[in-house]
Amino acid sequence: MKAEFVTSAKEPKGYPPTEFPEIAFAGRSNVGKSSMINTLLGTRKLVKVGKTPGKTRLVNFFLVQDSIMLVDLPGYGYAKVSKEEKKQWGETIENYLTERTQLIACVLILDVRRDPNEDDLGMLFWFNHYGIRTIVALTKCDKLSNNQNASRVAAISKQLNISRDMFVLFSSLTGKGKDDIWKKIQEIVA
Ligand code: GDP
Repeated sequence: MKAEFVTSAKEPKGYPPTEFPEIAFAGRSNVGKSSMINTLLGTRKLVKVGKTPGKTRLVNFFLVQDSIMLVDLPGYGYAKVSKEEKKQWGETIENYLTERTQLIACVLILDVRRDPNEDDLGMLFWFNHYGIRTIVALTKCDKLSNNQNASRVAAISKQLNISRDMFVLFSSLTGKGKDDIWKKIQEIVA
């Protein structure tokens, strides 16, 4: 898969002047977002994994197959940052969601083992508020059995009141769910 890093930006004026449809990835810091994007792009290097949580405050743009932009939003919800810093990442995410007309869908990444917290619900509220289509990726599914994963999908889809069709079980370790996410993205882009 052809994938290239385009740019990082904090403010809308730094976003690339491209017209490709964009799929944005959001999740709590350390949820496995960088690993997921690398897995989807078929690379280990484009996004740095395991960096200090809460340190990435930029919006990163990756162009795939000269046709779709994957957008890495800052990880949210890291406890050990100041109020001012939290406010800043909030603004960075909100600016992107409100101003970027190229945005066509978001992937909300959750740890399959954890119930969504209020930050996750807050993100979902924004997506709904702006009418952004949402795919929910439940990552680290290699940590649970198939039965356990199935009951987590049922529980979380109920908690979020989102149809199970929009859920994908994912693992960066095994690659499970990679094709499912690309299929959902292709359907939305088409
Ligand atoms: P980010 O902060 O959301 O970008 O998270 P990272 O991608 O940096 O991952 C955080 C930690 O979770 C790292 O130690 C990863 O190796 C680990 N991790 C990420 N995805 C998976 C997964 O699917 N399965 C397992 N077992 N570990 C994962």
